[in-house]
Order: sequence, then structure tokens, then C-alpha cells
Amino acid sequence: MKKSMILIAVLCFLVFSTVIGQEAKEEEKPDPLANFSLVDETQPVPEDVKVGFESITGKDAVTYLKFISDDLLEGRDTGSDGYDIAALYGATMFELWGLKPAGDMIRPRRDFRRMMMGGQTARSSKRSYFQNIAMRETLERDGKAVAEWQKGQQKKTRSFHPNVDYSYFASGTQSLTAPVVFIGYGIQEKSLKFDEYKNLDVKGKFVMMLSEAPGKGDPDSPFNKGELKKKYYPQRRRMRRMTNPKTKLATDLGAVGVLLVENSPQDNPDVARQALDRQKIYDDRPIIPGERRRVSLMEGSGLRMPWDSVATIRVSREMANKILGFVDQDVDTLKGKIEKTLQPQSMPLKGVTFTVKSTAKTKLVNSMNVLGYIEGSDPELKKEAIVIGAHLDHLGKRGDYIFNGADDDGSGSVGVMEIAEAFAKNPVKPKRSIVFALWTGEEKGLLGSRYYVTHPFIEKTYCNLNLDMISRVYDKSRIGMMARMFGEDIPKEALDKINAKKFVSLSYDADTPELGKIIRENNNYVGLHLSMRASSEGMGGSDHAPFAMSNIPWAFFIAAMTEDYHQPTDTVDKASPKLMEKIIRITYLTAFSLANN
Ligand SMILES: [Zn+2]
Repeated sequence: MKKSMILIAVLCFLVFSTVIGQEAKEEEKPDPLANFSLVDETQPVPEDVKVGFESITGKDAVTYLKFISDDLLEGRDTGSDGYDIAALYGATMFELWGLKPAGDMIRPRRDFRRMMMGGQTARSSKRSYFQNIAMRETLERDGKAVAEWQKGQQKKTRSFHPNVDYSYFASGTQSLTAPVVFIGYGIQEKSLKFDEYKNLDVKGKFVMMLSEAPGKGDPDSPFNKGELKKKYYPQRRRMRRMTNPKTKLATDLGAVGVLLVENSPQDNPDVARQALDRQKIYDDRPIIPGERRRVSLMEGSGLRMPWDSVATIRVSREMANKILGFVDQDVDTLKGKIEKTLQPQSMPLKGVTFTVKSTAKTKLVNSMNVLGYIEGSDPELKKEAIVIGAHLDHLGKRGDYIFNGADDDGSGSVGVMEIAEAFAKNPVKPKRSIVFALWTGEEKGLLGSRYYVTHPFIEKTYCNLNLDMISRVYDKSRIGMMARMFGEDIPKEALDKINAKKFVSLSYDADTPELGKIIRENNNYVGLHLSMRASSEGMGGSDHAPFAMSNIPWAFFIAAMTEDYHQPTDTVDKASPKLMEKIIRITYLTAFSLANN
């Protein structure tokens, strides 16, 4: 029933001329446009949401964005003055628009003079707009890795350097020593009778594995099809790191660490060289090698994520070959055998021990989420909240380079602000409460949103709407690239009809199909070209992930991914006010529908 309704809704737009009597026939074959909502003719917006809707304009959004992404804020790095200024700006605007504060209770400041005079200190029961979070920054002082091989009296040693031969980050001082087992790609797939752990004990050992899966680029490889392809080739780099099912498997089997070798030689994790290559794009000033700051939550203060579990050490091919060389093996030969025979080539590296040491100094960093809310109008439903969030932080600066983060995620942040303003100005109030959140520490590992889900302002979150990177317009040629990024194909029928200028990717909780329906309906008032992906992964590289992991329904809007992603060139002049306006408006309408649902 539901399925057919959705289908008809889609067909309404695209097959205007189709005779109504043909609907039944159309249902039988899968509709290539089923996962899209391509609206060109918009409808007038209902009266009860109109004032708020019309208060959202691309012009305002870009004006706020100019402030947020100004050089003066130096890239809004977590814990920096620039971030705090942006946070204060957000809080000030929330207050100006009349939102209620949803942050920490304000501790009364002791008035010693009054106390001396025998007076009472004012007891404040006020909240602030800030949810303060204590974090720990790790200042990596030193690290090294050593591989040793011993056979009787014979002994060989090789030393390796962090950020040249390998990249690994421990949040404190740590030393791990264990034997090494080569496990190929580290895959266990019953359906293919392919088990690279067969007859091997990896408990308490390092496992050396290749990234991805056998047969890369070979269309006949079983790993290049359907679900397996999605599993082993998550396209976004961050996702690869965060949700790697192979790392999880190694952890479950008791490995102490993973020595991860890139499957393709060009993905060499020589981070120093990578930084060099990137910076060359901008100019040829000398490079100041500035490592990314490492900031984490205090133990137990936020939601634990899978990547907290096992030591994943990305090693260069050269380093892997030096370790394998102790037992007369090398990466390409072993990889070649696996590819050719599709038989595991796993083996313990006899006599080889690997040690990785990290010594780290840490310091306390204080940062904050900015939280405001509109109280629901229904006495019962107001106890549930729609949380609309975006991350206010970005990468800060390195050397002379400021990473303004206009799109990532200044755009989402001003989107949340505009929606807050709209709800505040709209005379009709929603039944459920709406919490507006500007998250800190996303770029450091979703710190602010992870903290929030364990310290929510309103206990029950009904749904999370996440805006991350909503200001950049696609050019048509890049849409296919986007699809590949999500491991999907966009059918030609859809590609032909898509207007790149208003194309946006929506992903949402597959367990809440209703959410897709609501967004689709609201698109009729906005006129976006949406690709709609119901995702059951419950994970992703942005702030909806902690909600998803806490079984809270979520939806996530993202516009074009461009070459300016995580670069100093992500600046406000490239933002599209028109596109932002549409995305912010549909999010506002969706929040309203959900709040009254
Ligand atoms: Zn982002």
C-alpha cells in the first residue's frame, strides 16, 4: 500500500501525460525514479507554516555565513577563540530571536562583596545556551615502531617513523608488542566460502591486512557486486575508517591491532608526502608541517564509537614489505596469489614481533555545543524533541592557511540558525519541542553530537535532522561521482531528468520509511531534485551517526562535494544562496511536520 503510494507520487511529476489507467502496469517493474523526488512546479505553502517559511532566505543565510566563515574566526577549530566567537554569535542570535536556552545551568557567580556585607548570593536557576564539554587534546610528543625477527641466534630489527612510514594515533601513552599474522584482506565471507582467518589464531596478535577486497576494478569479482561491494568499498574516506567491517571483525577475533596496507599502491599513507602534494595545489610557499590536532572526549563522557576499539595502524607499502621481507614475502606477491586463486594466503609471520609506542602529553580543552529550543505547544508531545543540528567547528588553520569551512559546515550551521529564526517568528508553534544544536568537535570525531546523545536536553529525541555541507551546487558530470561515492548507480532515466543546480542527496533512517514520505511531501513546496537513500547502516561520517547508533530516527541532507572539501579554498563566495534557501526551507517544513506528526 505504502509502496504504491510513493510510486504514484513520483509518477505524478514525471509522467504527467501518462494515462491514469496505466498505474497498475507501471507498478510491476521497478521504477528507476523510485528513489528520487524531482519537483519542478511548486505548490503554495500552507498558511500555518508560511511566516516562518518566508523568513528563510538565501540572502540571510549567506549574510550569517560571511560572519561564520570570516578569516577572523581562523577556521573555528575546536577549543580555539575563533570557535568560541562563532558559538557566542550563534547563542546571541538564538537569544535575539527569542529561543529558550537549552544548555547548562548557569552557576551563580559568588558575590564576595555582598557576602561580606551579610547579603545573600543570588541563586540563579537560569540556563545558558552553551553545553560545555571538557575534552582532552593529545599533544603527540613521540612515537616509534619496531619490527623484530628472531630465529635461534639470528636477529634482525627494523625501525619505523610515525607520519612517514605509518600513521597511528593513541590518545595517551601506550606500548603494544605482539606477533604478526598476515591475513590477506581480512575477509570472512561464508556465502563465498572465503575465510582468511581459517585455522588461524589472531588473539593477542597484530594482523596485517590489505584494505578493500580482492578483484578491485574487476566487474566479475564477487566482491564488486551488490551488498559485498558496499561493504568492502565504502567510498568516503572517513567512512572507510569509521565503519570498516574488517577492523571490527579483527577486533571481535581478539587482535590487538591492525596493520592496514592500502590495496592500491597510490593510496600510500605517507602523510607527510600527502600534505606536501596537497599544499602544492595552492602555491609554492614553504610548507609548515602542521599535524591535525587530536582532541577527544574524556573517557565515558559521550557515546563510544566503533573506531575507539582497536589500534589501526596505517602502514606504507614499503614498511609492510620490510616486515614481510623477514620471511621472504612481499605485499604484491601475496596479493597477486589471492587475486589469482581466490584462495586465502594467510600465515603467521614466523619469528616476527611488532612493537608500536606512543608517548603523549595531554592538555585540557574546553569547548561547547550551542543549544536553544522552542517549547512544544502540546502538553504531552512537548516532552519529545526534534533535534536539528549542524557542526559549527571546522579545521582551524595550519601555518598561514585558514580553513574557513564555509560549506563544511558553516552552511549547515547558518541553516540551523535560519530554521531557529523561522520557528521563533512563526505564530503557530509546533506540538513537539524543537532543539537547535550547533555541534562542536565534529571534525575531531563527532565529539559534540556524541556528547549530546548521552546528555540530551530533552530526554526523548523523536528525530534528528542533520545539515552538513548544503551550499555547493553540482555540475552534471559530478552527479555520477556522487552516486559512486555512496556505492550506488543513478539510472540513466533519472540522470536525464535531474537538474544539477538543485540536486541534493538525502539519506535517512531505513527503519522509518515515513520520514522519506514526509520529506517527499514537503519537497512539493520547495522544488528540489532529491536523491533519497534509505540507509540501514545507521552510520556515517557526520553528526547524525551518534543518533543513528542510539536508535533515533535521522535524516541527513548534503549537497555537492567539491574539490574544496577540507581545503583552504572552502570559502563563502562559492555558496549558492538559492540552493541553501531550498534545503533550509525543506528542513524547516520537515521539522514542522515531524513535530505535529
Ligand atoms: Zn562537515
